[in-house]
Amino acid sequence: MNIIILGPQGSGKGTQARLLSEKFGLFYLESGDFLREIAKKDKEVNEIINVQGKLLPDEQTFSLIKNYLEEKAPLATNLLFDGYPRSVKQYQLLKDWLIQKSQKIDIAFLLEISEEESIRRLSARRVCEKDGKVWNLITNPPPSDECSCGGNLIQRPDDTLEKIKVRLSEYRKTTEPLVSLLEKENLLIKINGERPIEVIFHDLVNYVK
Ligand SMILES: [Zn+2]
Repeated sequence: MNIIILGPQGSGKGTQARLLSEKFGLFYLESGDFLREIAKKDKEVNEIINVQGKLLPDEQTFSLIKNYLEEKAPLATNLLFDGYPRSVKQYQLLKDWLIQKSQKIDIAFLLEISEEESIRRLSARRVCEKDGKVWNLITNPPPSDECSCGGNLIQRPDDTLEKIKVRLSEYRKTTEPLVSLLEKENLLIKINGERPIEVIFHDLVNYVK
């Protein structure tokens, strides 16, 4: 079973993806972390995503992901994609690769939350200065006003209201056509993301089963 999980920032899709991959032994690919790891070794990628703050072209992102999957999960089964694909083009590239492997995407979950809720949650995000652990004052609060490691908690510079709004509108612009396409292909399952983590997870597990 191959799964895509979609949702705006703050929808909790990362949390659900981790839980799902543990529960069903899926190979979990979180594209943000993946690309950050690549950027540590690849100067060109680092220049684009960290220095210029831009997104990599679709073909380039896909070719990195494909090479990685060819090495780690060559059968292209039991994959869970988080943060990729996020556009129609990216989805087509992934689909073509899966077809070559006689595989496909079986389910695409869309975790839906309102823009207000997204903003509320993202504004509550705090990062530990010491170990980089991410907390959320609303959904995943730290044990005290410090991280569990004792480090200071700070707000990321890109978690200001203005930047959050820009990211959410970019997300909508690129993802909406993909959502419509997945709906047409009868792959999309919409999930109300404004409920407790366990309740959402219970729903997802039932769909996967
Ligand atoms: Zn910490």
